[in-house]
Amino acid sequence: MAIDQDAIRKHIRGILEALGDDPDREGLKDTPDRVARMYAEVFEGMNYTNEEIAAMFNKTFSENIEMKNDRDMVIVKDIDMFSYCEHHMALMYDMTATVAYIPKNKVIGLSKIARIADMVGKRLQLQERIGSDIAEILQMIVETEDVAVVIEGTHGCMTSRGIKKSSATTKTYTLRGRFKEDKELKSRLVMETTTHSTINPQN
Ligand SMILES: [Zn+2]
Repeated sequence: MAIDQDAIRKHIRGILEALGDDPDREGLKDTPDRVARMYAEVFEGMNYTNEEIAAMFNKTFSENIEMKNDRDMVIVKDIDMFSYCEHHMALMYDMTATVAYIPKNKVIGLSKIARIADMVGKRLQLQERIGSDIAEILQMIVETEDVAVVIEGTHGCMTSRGIKKSSATTKTYTLRGRFKEDKELKSRLVMETTTHSTINPQN
């Protein structure tokens, strides 16, 4: 299903009126159209299911993978991404995804993982679901259960209203297969995604 840009134009105009502004004034007259075109872009991922995204980026290498031991993981750290929260339609920013998996036979190109994160972010999301969507798509492509996704992000709905905790970031873990069961594997992942170098002067 394609995004209905005409309907978005109409409703954004209605929101401008509801805010008490004049949608025909100079600064606003093109706003409904701009928002419609922006939404088509930033919500592109809503046009596709996880299965379709997996098919889109299904480029794997099935070379003989020689891992030194069976806990060796492929890890792609700090992929920049953004998304919009489904509760407020507010931007989730300063967001990074770290994706790890233990390959069985298939390895995916690193740039493809970034493309998957990007596409999954282009939906109305919850931070937890960004993690589980990326994990599900990756499981389909590399055909392993052993996938972990760590998402860190700042939510505009928290930093721009209410108690303005502008430094509040949220970190979520999605652990599948052995990342869930194997304590050593799990702690290695946590170690890889924790920064030890910051000293907080407030402590
Ligand atoms: Zn929100």
